[in-house]
Amino acid sequence: MQTPTKYIFVTGGVASSLGKGIISASLAKLLQARGYSVTIQKLDPYLNIDPGTLNPYEHGECYVTEDGAEADLDLGHYERFLNVPTSQANNVTTGRIYKSVIEKERRGDFLGKTVQIIPHITDEIQRRITLLGNTGRYDFVITEIGGTVGDIESLPFIEAIRQLKLILEPQQSLVIHLTLIPYLAAAGELKTKPTQHSVRMFLEQGVQPDILVCRTEHELGPDLKRKIGLFCNVSSESVIESRDASSIYDVPLLMEKEELDRVVLKKLGMPTLEKADLSNWKEFLFKLRNPTSEVEIGIVGKYIELKDAYKSIAEAFIHAGAANQVQVHIRWIHSEDIIDDNVEALFAGLNGVLVAPGFGERGIEGKISAIKFARERNIPFFGICLGMQCAVIEFARNVLGWQDAHSTEMDPKTTHPVIHLQENQKKVTNKGGTMRLGAYSCKLKKNSLAYNVYGREEISERHRHRYEFNNLYLSDFGNAGLVESGVNEEKALIEVVENVNHPWFIGVQFHPEYKSTVENPHPLFLGFVKAATVNAAQNNGKDYAIA
Ligand code: GLN
Repeated sequence: MQTPTKYIFVTGGVASSLGKGIISASLAKLLQARGYSVTIQKLDPYLNIDPGTLNPYEHGECYVTEDGAEADLDLGHYERFLNVPTSQANNVTTGRIYKSVIEKERRGDFLGKTVQIIPHITDEIQRRITLLGNTGRYDFVITEIGGTVGDIESLPFIEAIRQLKLILEPQQSLVIHLTLIPYLAAAGELKTKPTQHSVRMFLEQGVQPDILVCRTEHELGPDLKRKIGLFCNVSSESVIESRDASSIYDVPLLMEKEELDRVVLKKLGMPTLEKADLSNWKEFLFKLRNPTSEVEIGIVGKYIELKDAYKSIAEAFIHAGAANQVQVHIRWIHSEDIIDDNVEALFAGLNGVLVAPGFGERGIEGKISAIKFARERNIPFFGICLGMQCAVIEFARNVLGWQDAHSTEMDPKTTHPVIHLQENQKKVTNKGGTMRLGAYSCKLKKNSLAYNVYGREEISERHRHRYEFNNLYLSDFGNAGLVESGVNEEKALIEVVENVNHPWFIGVQFHPEYKSTVENPHPLFLGFVKAATVNAAQNNGKDYAIA
């Protein structure tokens, strides 16, 4: 008989932002590299149904899965590390849990019972956790609990884990608690007390963590590990040091060195002799660390104060840079800072310009100025979603001469609505979960730049938008040199445009950044970085032909 799925819970203590997502993804990577199938789930304790309605300043990027879930950005890390797609089931919020319980209550499913947090909410949490395990597809389900132990809103999740640990077989589950060991400079010491308190609070809620992962700026050493173990009821081999790393991609190797995977397997009663095969991962890290050339790319967006708002784009550049052995420097440019007069100065020396996705009016004119500059100066340009829409608007205004051309998202009264609302969006009133979301197919035009970049005709990419290219203007654009090179044939939606009079100018309605992983860098990012490298070489006086 196949061994039943094992469940690993990852919780946090002492402080938020310690990197539970990266620790979860790193452990998953180590288990996967030992030949196990692993998935990672994130439970978020807030009341929004999903982060789709959240301002990026609140919660960073909204990640989108193949099946159209608007999800926490940690799912992006899971996919980038594991190279396996996640789904709706991989991200569940308190809001979603309550919604399903309340819907059941309205249907009368509880047969007159009083509906309560325990057992009804906790049962629903458990159902969501075991849903993934019950597919039979995974040896391990790693469930990351958002927030920190001790938060009021985390309580039902911790209670659900406590109960689940009793329901599951012995050695079928374990809890990893991620804490902080602060360094007090004045005393010159690492302090374990906050960790002790965090574990005590966890114990008050009925859960004894099995493994402690301790974030620290300095080496813990065997004595401190023993002390932490003693006060927190775990053996010192279960106290794992997690030192600050220069790249998140180093963390799997650091965790391997600390033997996190071996300790986990041992506690779950599984064989530990063979080691993880991390050769591909190490090769990626080697290329990342040993670039042979460098480029500088400008990312234009309106949320740049918070780098997490463009997480997947920044990571996709790391993957594509490593694959090309090119160091990609990012210059973050705030779209509201751009006015026609300062473009030259703000963009000086850039080898490529990417205009990021976004919503609403703020910063639009800056994005359009940035695109004009890249188009006129033959600087490689890559527009994603709103970035593609802005490229269409820029072309309409400055090449076709339609001065008031716009998207109806920003100017509903424009006489040239070159970007307009998708037909089936016209009757949509609710904001949550109602965009065109998830993976759709797209056919690329043979011999176009997009086709050359992907090396095939049929592609599938993920979407998150309400507006689209207005096909009424297709021939006007095409005749002037901005051609459609990718189309969703089912709905006749224009998914890719490119400028045939420019060395490398592509706008895509979809979000390629969501599909870039360490093992599968995205072709568009690879192509863009390559084009930027050619641009850099030309600027340095070398004569390269654009492939
Ligand atoms: N606001 C635009 C739309 O809804 C673009 C969305 C995006 O960039 N994700 O179509």
